[in-house]
Amino acid sequence: MKIGIDAGGTLIKVVIENENERTYKKWLSTEIDHVATWLNQLNDVEIFMTGGKAQYLDSLISHEVKRSIEFDATYAGIQLFLEEHDIHLDNYIFSNVGTGTSIHYATKEQQERAGGTGAGGGMIQGLGYLLTQISDYDQLVQTASQGDRDKIDLKVKHIYKGDKTPISGELTASNFGHVLQHMDETFSNEDRLAAVLGIVGETVTTVSIHAAKQFETENVVYIGSSFINNDLLRKIVIDYTVLRGLKPFFIENGEFSGALGSIYR
Ligand code: ADP
Ligand code: MG
Repeated sequence: MKIGIDAGGTLIKVVIENENERTYKKWLSTEIDHVATWLNQLNDVEIFMTGGKAQYLDSLISHEVKRSIEFDATYAGIQLFLEEHDIHLDNYIFSNVGTGTSIHYATKEQQERAGGTGAGGGMIQGLGYLLTQISDYDQLVQTASQGDRDKIDLKVKHIYKGDKTPISGELTASNFGHVLQHMDETFSNEDRLAAVLGIVGETVTTVSIHAAKQFETENVVYIGSSFINNDLLRKIVIDYTVLRGLKPFFIENGEFSGALGSIYR
C-alpha cells in the first residue's frame, strides 16, 4: 500500500493507493498529531510526503518517509490526473488556490513558478470570519452562495452610468467600492461573503491570466481545496477566465494533486 500525503497550511490531503484502488482522505492541519497516530499503527506501507508541514509530520512518525518538493509533486499529480481524464495540454498555467495561491507554468516536461497572491482560501475564511463571525467552512461557502454582490461591488457600468464603457460594464471596477453608496441599507452575511468570494476569485484569476499571457498559453488549470463545495467561487473564476479569452480547467479531486504526485515523483 502506498500513501501520498500533502500536509498543507490548512488541510492534510492523503491519497491511498492499494492494488488498483485509490482512496482520498483529508484532515485539518490542526489534527496533524491524529494523522501521525493513524500512520504509526499501519504496517506494510510506503509513505510519500510533501507540503509545508511535511517535515513536522515526518518527525512524528516511525516509518521511513520519501519526501518531495511541493511544486514538483503538485505538477506530477496534475499531469497524472489530466492524463487519466484524457485532457491533453501541451502547456498550461496551474493555479493552486490553497490557504494562499501559488501559480505555475507547466509544459509536458516540467513546471516553473510564475507567481502567486495572498488571496486564497485563507482569506475567504479569515476575512469571512471578520465580516460575519462564521468560522465553519461549509456554513461560510453555503451562506456566500445565497448572496448578491450588487450593493457591495462597484461595476464599470455603475461608474459610466449609461455612457458607453471602454470595457465590459459587467466587470468589477472596485471590489467593495459600492458600499459607501448604500450606507442607509443593511448588508446581509450572504452579501458580505459573496463579495469576499468575489475579491478572492477575481484576484486569483487576474494573477493567473497575467501569467498565462506572459507564458503565452491559453489554458489555466485551477486546483486547491478552496473550490470544494464552492460553486460560486468556481463560477466567478470560470466566467472571468473565459471573458479574458482563456480556457479554464477544473480537475475532479484536483486538490489531491500534491498528495498523488508525491507518490509518482
Ligand atoms: P493548503 O494546502 O494550504 O492546506 P488547500 O488546498 O487544502 O490549502 O486549501 C485550503 C482552503 O480550502 C481553506 O483555506 C478553505 O478555504 C478551503 N476548505 C475546503 N474545505 C475545508 C474544510 N473542511 N475545512 C477548512 N477549510 C476548507
Ligand atoms: Mg497546498
